Amino acid sequence: MLKHNLGFPRIGEQRELKKACESYWNGKIDSVKLFEIGKKIRIENWNIQKHYGIDLIPCNDFSFYDHVLDMSFLIGSIPDSYFNLKFKNDIDLYFSMARGYQKHKFDIKAMEMTKWFNTNYHYIVPIFTKNQKFFIYSKKLFNEIKELNNIVDSTDKIKPVLIGPVTYLSLGKEKDNTFHKMDLIENIVSVYIEIINKLLNKGIKWIQLDEPILSMDLYDKEKEAFQYAYKKIYNYFSLSDVKIILTSYFDGILDNLSIIKNFNEYITAIHIDLVEDPNQLKDVLSFIKDSKTILSMGIVNGRNIWKNRYNDTIDKIKKAIFSIGKDRIMIAPSCSLIHIPIDLDKENNIHLDIKERMSFAKQKIKELNDIEKILEGDRNILLKNSFLIKKLENSTIIHNKEVKLRSDNISNKYIQRKNDFSIRQKKQKEKFNFPLFPTTTIGSLPQTKELRDIRNKFKNKKISEKEYVKKIKSFIIYAIKKQEEIGLDVLVHGEFERTDMVEYFSEKLNGILSTDYGWVQSYGSRCVKPPVIYGDVSRIGDMTTDWICFAQSNTNKFIKGMLTGPVTIIKWSFVRDDQPIYKTSYQIAFAIRDEVLSLEKLGINIIQIDEPALREGLPLKRKNWKYYFSWSIKSFRISSSGVKDETQIHTHMCYSEFNDIIKQISDLDADVITIESARSNMELLKNFSDFYYPNEIGPGVYDIHSPRIPSVMEIYDLIKKAANFLYKENIWINPDCGLKTRKWNEVLDSIKNMVKATKIARKELS
Ligand code: GLN
Ligand code: ZN
Repeated sequence: MLKHNLGFPRIGEQRELKKACESYWNGKIDSVKLFEIGKKIRIENWNIQKHYGIDLIPCNDFSFYDHVLDMSFLIGSIPDSYFNLKFKNDIDLYFSMARGYQKHKFDIKAMEMTKWFNTNYHYIVPIFTKNQKFFIYSKKLFNEIKELNNIVDSTDKIKPVLIGPVTYLSLGKEKDNTFHKMDLIENIVSVYIEIINKLLNKGIKWIQLDEPILSMDLYDKEKEAFQYAYKKIYNYFSLSDVKIILTSYFDGILDNLSIIKNFNEYITAIHIDLVEDPNQLKDVLSFIKDSKTILSMGIVNGRNIWKNRYNDTIDKIKKAIFSIGKDRIMIAPSCSLIHIPIDLDKENNIHLDIKERMSFAKQKIKELNDIEKILEGDRNILLKNSFLIKKLENSTIIHNKEVKLRSDNISNKYIQRKNDFSIRQKKQKEKFNFPLFPTTTIGSLPQTKELRDIRNKFKNKKISEKEYVKKIKSFIIYAIKKQEEIGLDVLVHGEFERTDMVEYFSEKLNGILSTDYGWVQSYGSRCVKPPVIYGDVSRIGDMTTDWICFAQSNTNKFIKGMLTGPVTIIKWSFVRDDQPIYKTSYQIAFAIRDEVLSLEKLGINIIQIDEPALREGLPLKRKNWKYYFSWSIKSFRISSSGVKDETQIHTHMCYSEFNDIIKQISDLDADVITIESARSNMELLKNFSDFYYPNEIGPGVYDIHSPRIPSVMEIYDLIKKAANFLYKENIWINPDCGLKTRKWNEVLDSIKNMVKATKIARKELS
């Protein structure tokens, strides 16, 4: 029974990679130094895995920016616009694709970035041209094999990791619509064959081909591509001793077993995610039973930070042993460990009872070792593990009767506004008396260096709370003055007290903790530190009211209260594993509901509950959407429905492809939804109009991701377009998203133009 790992975090225990890359970009270190730091991280990672007896150690899982971009680089899938810049050093070409290039006479944008399946990791989207040929371009893969070879004593232990050809193509985009990306399968398979050949020549036997799209609903073209690719590779290498492990993760593969059936014989091992879908084990086992295929069991959760429950795991493994024999089984984490932090041992501020239940990447690797020992008869490890799990069942740090009582008894009155939208809208129109096309922003305003310094100083106790509050208030006053001058209708306080929209709330809630070093790569050098939801969640006290009421006391205009919604808090945190997700979500929803009611009681009449993660958290398989929406929509409604008819609830989502889920969006029953739509030129509003979306909508009228100032006329044109799709009286005018990443001058100029454009629209379109 081999133990293997699919991938190890590459940011370094102290985020060395982030610091190194940023220093390199700022010209503070040269590429030699950058490479040295990269190598040091790899060697540390490999040594950890070697230390815990991992039999197949992954290689090429390291990346200076992104592993999909690495794949593009490996097979020469490099758009001409970057290639033609003729960099002397390949790493500069690589970074130009990731980050764009703006120097001398050049001004080339970065390649597009998007979410890696349903995770919070972002990859660089490959771009394909018709009949594109692929060829081995980068030597990174081969260099890393050489390095790892110096650490392990045999090439049998080295397992290069590559994204499989079908998933790689499916992640990319065609440059134009003259062809389908899957048409490139023949061309791309030839380069894979070349790569595998080269690996074989270096003595490599095991190769991991990641094909996570197997856990999604596949199109025929993708299915055919699978057939073609793996048959071809098999035919080429059938006489060699190459061993292909086909890995899928993030969900089950049962729906695609039929396509695998035919190529089952072409691969040596198949890896399945038994954490996301434990139920697939039985069918997969009977499916491969009569073949020689090895089953790699993904049994250690690669996406969450809880200790493995050894009892359950051993059960599963024993079932598999019984069915296909020990020799045909491998064990591994469910997916690459890049989605969790590196080392729990570093954390000194977590309650010990909780910490002893947690496990980061390094600890997960050790778990594989533990599991092996248990199978060999070590009862102590098993007993200790069961004891820890039992111990928490009665822990008062985790369980709170009152909280449970409330979230376990949700009657209709908790998920229903008092009256329908049509009645609420009338009352709200009377009360607020806004002009046609009311203007607002999404919440955050520029986070300057000065502001971040103040927050840091306060966090490190270098300034007193009094001083801190005074400083933040001065930012709020400035923000209000500017918004009033520009003439916005609904103002925001600016979110200056928040580093991150989830972290801020998690710090103010019982049952959620923050780690000190629990960083996870989000994209490139950007890392996030997801909070850990470990117990029943409730409010310690009011979370936002002081700031919002202070803002309101400084203006006669309406201030919009600003909260993060329950689904987003869940999706951007590590969630407890001892109860179904919906229960955790309802508890958070009640905490937000309490905050909404506190705000309302203190005279705040407009409250926004942000849910940017609702759309992006959609399960990979359509059949799982129903369950997801059942708890997510209910959660939003719990948090938002306690208010009076006259209190206006806003929500905001960035990624706004709502084609398939417009009904569910309307089920949220927010009075106003603000969405991102400038980049699609309002095209996605078509869904709202086709569906007769009943409530008010603020389609974003300019893209906030770019420093560019939109002109009055282009905004006006977008408003005009929006008015073609939507009922005029329902339209709000706002940017695409929050403005925290922009500079003040950019924000002020853009918003001024937005308000000017709105004024023209009020005249022209009323
Ligand atoms: N209110 C948040 C902000 O303005 C919303 C952020 C988001 O949509 N991701 O920053
Ligand atoms: Zn947004």
